[in-house]
Amino acid sequence: MKKLFTIFGNPVSHSKSPLMHNLSFQALNYNGCYTRYKLEKGNLLREKFFSLNIKGANVTVPHKEEAFRACDKLDEFAQKVGAVNTIIRKNNKLYGYNTDAPGFLKAISEFKEIKKVLFLGAGGTAQSTSIILRDAGYDVTLLNRSAKRLERYQQDGFKTYTFESFKDIEQYDLVVNMTSAGLEDDNLPCPIEILKSVVKNTKACVDVIYGKETPFLKFAKKHNKPTKDGSDMLLYQGIIAFEYFTEHKFTFEEIKRYMQKAFIL
Ligand code: NDP
Repeated sequence: MKKLFTIFGNPVSHSKSPLMHNLSFQALNYNGCYTRYKLEKGNLLREKFFSLNIKGANVTVPHKEEAFRACDKLDEFAQKVGAVNTIIRKNNKLYGYNTDAPGFLKAISEFKEIKKVLFLGAGGTAQSTSIILRDAGYDVTLLNRSAKRLERYQQDGFKTYTFESFKDIEQYDLVVNMTSAGLEDDNLPCPIEILKSVVKNTKACVDVIYGKETPFLKFAKKHNKPTKDGSDMLLYQGIIAFEYFTEHKFTFEEIKRYMQKAFIL
């Protein structure tokens, strides 16, 4: 019988995940089908999982924390960050994982000799990625527009600044736009004076937004910095999720060969 997979979120109409996973199922002869499910109430996630007989799912905005609560078992990293974007059902139990953060870690691994990283933004995506980067030996500082979101990072021992408290005293090897500034507008993620000073001294700039050249990436290119957008992060989180969905039947490179076709169609 065909195994059913889906992405839960709101909105989900723009998601590339169905294409990424269906291309890979087909090419690897795996009897699976991946759909999308617009879920308005996150607290219904668990019930839908069972009533629709779903084998595995991705979870996107705004339900990653609700997904964390819906699982019976969590892997160590998902437990630590409190957010789940991949769930599989085994023996009628839900197992939760976070593949966004390892996807991001792999995406930036092409930039060598990086130690100090500055995150512009401190939302949900910054949370899991800052933890995985720190675990991997990077030194992460966060700069955010509002002070409120920085509180939990301060409690976790990260260096943090608001636009007002920012001090131009350190050089960062990598600057990452972790905000949604530039996604549906033409905003930069922080005041241009701050951006100038951090970009001037950095080795590379990365944006987690994909599918468009944001004002942040345009700015970085103008300053002759190597750049990359969020496409690899999206691809890699999908490959790692696919490994869980198919219980590690296929290698990362095998899956990549087919899944990356979703980005050139
Ligand atoms: P959240 O809503 O959790 O956080 C948004 C963050 O952006 C906050 O820090 C917020 O600051 C900041 N922000 C929003 N607008 C502006 C602005 N105009 N100027 C400065 N700061 C701003 O979002 P997520 O963490 O869920 O998502 C962040 C980005 O990551 C999105 O663009 C999303 O598309 C992308 N993403 C990419 C993925 C990929 O696979 N490539 C995966 C997941 C997310 P404040 O606290 O002041 O409001």
